[in-house]
Amino acid sequence: MAKMKGLAMLDFDTIGWVEKEIPKAGPTDAICKPLAISPCTSDVHTVWEKALGARHDLILGHEASAEVVEVGALVKDFKVGDKVIIPAITPDWEAVESQAGYSQHSKGMLNGWKFSNTKDGTFAEYFHVNQADGNMAHLPDGISVEDAAMLSDMVPTGFHGANNAEVEYGDTVVVIGIGPVGLMAVAGSVLRGAGRVFGVGSRTTCREAAKYYGATDLINYRDGDIVEQITEAMNGKPVDKVILAGGGLETFDQAVRLVKPGGIVSNINYLGTGDYIKIPRVEWGLGMGHIRIIGGLMPGGRKNMEYLSRMLLHGRLDVSPLLTHKYNRLEDLEEALLLMKDKPKDLIKPIVSIA
Ligand code: NDP
Ligand code: ZN
Repeated sequence: MAKMKGLAMLDFDTIGWVEKEIPKAGPTDAICKPLAISPCTSDVHTVWEKALGARHDLILGHEASAEVVEVGALVKDFKVGDKVIIPAITPDWEAVESQAGYSQHSKGMLNGWKFSNTKDGTFAEYFHVNQADGNMAHLPDGISVEDAAMLSDMVPTGFHGANNAEVEYGDTVVVIGIGPVGLMAVAGSVLRGAGRVFGVGSRTTCREAAKYYGATDLINYRDGDIVEQITEAMNGKPVDKVILAGGGLETFDQAVRLVKPGGIVSNINYLGTGDYIKIPRVEWGLGMGHIRIIGGLMPGGRKNMEYLSRMLLHGRLDVSPLLTHKYNRLEDLEEALLLMKDKPKDLIKPIVSIA
């Protein structure tokens, strides 16, 4: 059997290169080779926060644009040589959960998330895509392979945060965390018509990007309690929606304190540590405040990738400012992933293109 190499989680706290057999496509599947790949903060939670539990020699990565190198006999819409966008989440579309509208949880909680969770991910010379017709999209001419990789996870996750917050025209929205995911939540909120958008983060590069994507107010959590800072800016009034894309368990408490009766707290943060989330009883209206709290994994699948591509193609969204660190060899993935772990001040998102 032919072999390939990939960057894997060897054990908790340890990454390294492994050699594995090149995967084979089942009848409905495809095998792809990456054109551009990017590490995610979720890979960092998985390896260094032990968030998903033990994983041994599991190839990391779930963001990629790619070229198809093999298709199964039943794949109809893709052929060898096609350039494609692969979503981070690749559900089983026949599952009842998918039919109910929650494909992220097809056949079980979070089970639509396969790459770098339950099977080898995209940080390899080749990777396997289940249900290719439902889980890949053609890469349109006019979108670079690097920008396309941002459609795998960053754009759909940020937009999912804004969608779950049900952002409406004129809403005041707080986005806690303005890394690449939070930045796309800012962009998504603005596209949905938000009036005022607070972005919470400390690093200058991210703060500048938040302004670029339409944040009207910037709050630095290192300058003091964000609830106090935002409430002061709001002249004592609550906000309509809060999107959580950074911080930890403590941010739920802050979010509930910020939001109005009937408001929505929408979490897209991957909570890597701790057991319980605290909700402040009084500010939650003694349990009767109609404040909804929702957390969601991004929706994957072909349709989402095709629709989001249109946003890039027709100038509604520019993801290129996210890509602050560029590499061009598969081997550079290791450095790129460590950057994502260490979060230097000038980093938003690294990208490795091997086109
Ligand atoms: P980053 O680490 O790049 O960004 C985190 C942001 O949170 C930064 O702006 C950081 O500020 C800010 N922050 C950190 N601590 C606090 C705090 N105490 N209070 C307020 N803000 C704080 O992460 P990403 O943008 O890459 O990812 C965000 C989250 O989304 C991660 O947990 C990731 O795993 C998750 N994720 C979820 C997905 C889903 O489907 N739901 C999919 C993909 C990712 P600064 O650094 O400026 O100090
Ligand atoms: Zn991710």
